[in-house]
Amino acid sequence: MEQTLIIFKPDSIQRSIVGEVMTRFERAGFKIVAIKMIKPNREHYHKHYEGIGTLKTRKGEEIFEGTLSSMSEGPVIAMVLEGVEAVEVVRKMVGSTEPKTALPGTIRGDFAHVNYSQASSVGKAVANIVHASADIKEAKQEIAHWFKAEEIFDYKLAHEHLTQPKGN
Ligand code: ADP
Repeated sequence: MEQTLIIFKPDSIQRSIVGEVMTRFERAGFKIVAIKMIKPNREHYHKHYEGIGTLKTRKGEEIFEGTLSSMSEGPVIAMVLEGVEAVEVVRKMVGSTEPKTALPGTIRGDFAHVNYSQASSVGKAVANIVHASADIKEAKQEIAHWFKAEEIFDYKLAHEHLTQPKGN
């Protein structure tokens, strides 16, 4: 089964909407297999956004620095979700990067409205609630970067208990 990394960014924690957003993933049937609140250092975010992701290469120094600074404003909640084609489906639920253009029905479209120019005028990342792994390769690298193997759990949801033969 496929796994993907979600990070509840500082803005979602500060706005007390973590539960509401998490409910959307649970309602879609995804299984939470790892979760923790942490406040990583700059090196950790540097690797996340440029070593694994390619934010500085793609969007430049200013956006990269604004993103690292915004992520460091407070703790974040990191979570691993498991499900069928989890990476692609979760990205669809999250929506496009800029809340202004993210479609209604997506997390970024429903919980935010801000745009790139407003963010750059204050030297911050555009506040868009959550991070979600972009593809399967990044998901594998990000999960290994954020979680130790023993922090990721293997268990069954209620419906899995009900639909599988005894002993499983
Ligand atoms: P995504 O998070 O949708 O995968 P990126 O990897 O391109 O998008 O960017 C990482 C994060 O950097 C974004 O979620 C956003 O917070 C910030 N960001 C990206 N582009 C911009 C921009 N043009 N202006 C402000 N912040 C940006």
